[in-house]
Amino acid sequence: MTNVTVLGTGIMGAGMACSLARAGHRVTAWNRSEERARPLRDAGVTVAPDPDSAVGGADVVVTMLFDVTAVTEVMSRALPSMRDAVWVQTSTVGLDGTEQLAALAEKHGVPFVDAPVLGTRQPAEDGALVVLAGGPPAVRDAVTPVFDAIGSRTVWVGERPGDGHRLKLVANAWVLTVTVGTAQSIGLAADLGLDPGLFLDVISGGPLDVAYAQLKGKAMLARDFAAAFPVRGAVKDAELIRAAMAEAGTDDALMAAAHALFTRADQDGHGEQDMAAVLTTMARGAG
Ligand code: NAP
Repeated sequence: MTNVTVLGTGIMGAGMACSLARAGHRVTAWNRSEERARPLRDAGVTVAPDPDSAVGGADVVVTMLFDVTAVTEVMSRALPSMRDAVWVQTSTVGLDGTEQLAALAEKHGVPFVDAPVLGTRQPAEDGALVVLAGGPPAVRDAVTPVFDAIGSRTVWVGERPGDGHRLKLVANAWVLTVTVGTAQSIGLAADLGLDPGLFLDVISGGPLDVAYAQLKGKAMLARDFAAAFPVRGAVKDAELIRAAMAEAGTDDALMAAAHALFTRADQDGHGEQDMAAVLTTMARGAG
C-alpha cells in the first residue's frame, strides 16, 4: 500500500483518486474548490484543507491541475512539506511547462516524474488511462503501484523530464485533429442537406473508421456536449502542441486551424462544454 496524495480533483483527478483508493492505497486529496473534493470521502479518500497538509505523509504526490500556472502555484505551497516523496506530474503542461516544473522540483530536492495521461473521464474513473512517463529509473519502482492503479498501461518514453510530454503532445495532436475532422464531415453532411448520421454509418467497421470519431460524432449528432474534455482544455493543448511544433520545426498549419476553431467555440460561450461542441462553430445550421 502506498500513501498517495492527489492535488486537483477535477474531471480527471477525481476519477484517479477513486481508482487509487479502489486499488487499496491510502489516498488523500485536495482541491481548490473543496466542494468538488468532498464527495470523494464516500470512496474512502481523506480530503485535506490545503496542499501543504495534504502532502505531509505522502510517498507519492500526484498533480492533476489545469495548467502550468495552477501546478506552480499549488506545488510552491506543497513542496516544502514533502518528506521523501516523489512528485508525479500528470497535468498537461507542455514542454516548457514541464521544464519549469522539473526545475522547481530540483530546487526542493524532490524527485520528479513527467507522467501525462491518455484517456478521458471514464478511463480515469475506471483506472484505465495510458500513462506516458519520463523520469529516472531510480524512482520507477516507487511510482509503479500508482501507475498500475490509474492506468491499464504505462509507457516509459525516456528518462528526461519532457519525454512523457513529447508523446502526449503527439497523441493529443491526433485527438484534436480527429475531433475537428469529425465535426467537419458531420457539419458538411448537414449543410448539404443529408442526414449527418450517414457519415458515421458509411465509415463504420471499414478502413476509414476510428472509434474516437464514432464516440465524438455520436455526441455531436445528439448535441450532447457534457464535458469529458472541455473546449478550453482543447484551446490550451492546441497552444502547447503548436509551441512544440515551433521548437521542432514541424509545420503547424493544420493545428493552427484547429486552434482557431476551438478558440472560436470558446469565445462563443462553449468553453466549459465538451470539445465536440466545436461542431457549433463549423456547420451553418449547428450553432
Ligand atoms: P478540470 O475538471 O477543469 O480540473 C482542473 C483542476 O485544476 C481543478 O481541480 C481546478 O480546481 C484546478 N485549478 C485550476 N486552476 C487552478 C489554480 N490556479 N489553483 C489551484 N487549482 C486550480 O480539468 P481536467 O479535465 O480534470 O484536466 C486536468 C488536467 O488534465 C489538464 O491539464 C488537462 O489538459 C489534462 N487532461 C484532461 C483530460 C480530459 O479528457 N479531461 C485527459 C487527459 C489530460 P477547481 O475545481 O477549484 O476549479
